[in-house]
Amino acid sequence: MIHVLKHVESITQHRDRSLLELGVASALFELVKAKEVNLYKVQAEDSGHFLERVTHVGQDGLRFNSEFEPGNDLIPVSDRPEMQACVEEAQIVRRHDKVAGVFVHCFPIRVERGVLGVLEVICVNPLVDEDLGTAEGFLGLYRNYLNLLDYSERDTLTGLRNRKTFDENISKILGNISRPGDDDADQHRRRPDDGLQHWLAVVDVDHFKRVNDQFGHLYGDEVLLLLARIMRQSFRQQDKLFRFGGEEFVVVLRAATEAEVHRALERFRQAVEGYAFPQIGQVTASIGYTMIKPDDTIPDIVGRADDALYVAKESGRNQLANYEALLAEGRIAVREQPSSDIEFF
Ligand code: GH3
Ligand code: MG
Ligand code: MG
Repeated sequence: MIHVLKHVESITQHRDRSLLELGVASALFELVKAKEVNLYKVQAEDSGHFLERVTHVGQDGLRFNSEFEPGNDLIPVSDRPEMQACVEEAQIVRRHDKVAGVFVHCFPIRVERGVLGVLEVICVNPLVDEDLGTAEGFLGLYRNYLNLLDYSERDTLTGLRNRKTFDENISKILGNISRPGDDDADQHRRRPDDGLQHWLAVVDVDHFKRVNDQFGHLYGDEVLLLLARIMRQSFRQQDKLFRFGGEEFVVVLRAATEAEVHRALERFRQAVEGYAFPQIGQVTASIGYTMIKPDDTIPDIVGRADDALYVAKESGRNQLANYEALLAEGRIAVREQPSSDIEFF
């Protein structure tokens, strides 16, 4: 009992998802005497559902990846029938792997938004009722905790990530972007570079003040809510969506080329343009975007995207503008680095 409480104490001290997950996996590994415990997240891609292993605890040690590091191998859900059944039925599934001589137990990680992933517990023997109870108890704790984290990290009107989370997430991204020649550093926390870059886009509703003035603040709020829904539908699950403030939103996405980013943002812009907002009719948005670079600070990145957004607004609104392209075309001046001889450590 004391043993279990120690695990609970250690798990609940974390405000970070990755550490929380590692805590849950480690607790189960010890308490049910597993050979291995893995946590998989379900990723929805255009070509179907995939599993990404984000946490591993085994006799060979511990490993975990933050969700912002470049992609692990994605396993098609259909390659793992027991996981597929677990995700689709939201039920505990057990498989006897006769070749490896182990029992694989899959527990769905079910939160209010749906099944987020699968906890895989591999043991020499099938889990007995008491162990199943322990596993379910820890999953329940994990689930409640995820819901709480969600609540503190999300904007109450739109359900998108809030401003506080934005700063934390961007800092994490900047910490993980590998600089050239930096490949060996901190190797077991960094996944192989897959050649994808991070991009940041600022989305600002056009003439939103008019919506409030003509229809009232409640209708304005409704527009923000619907816009957030269109955002969720337009972007991929792995793109990070934030409500940055008032009627401004931020999208952080990973892509190999500018053209790919442009396509994703343009699809969203058109979806907004084509949506009939109840009572109000058409609402449009302007978008400025930029590539995130290793030595950037948060104000650098947001400043560049804002500069591009300003050009989009000035050029007639309801359009995209890319900072790097504007710079290359000489339509914008390089942002001044704040001049200061103070150095922070
Ligand atoms: P522009 O096309 O240049 O972006 O024009 P705009 O009217 O959208 O820009 P401006 O920044 O002048 O106005 C933004 C308005 O958004 C002002 C503010 O009253 C409104 N707003 C900010 N937050 C909220 C909110 O949470 N709900 C509602 N209903 N309105 C908000
Ligand atoms: Mg604004
Ligand atoms: Mg606006």
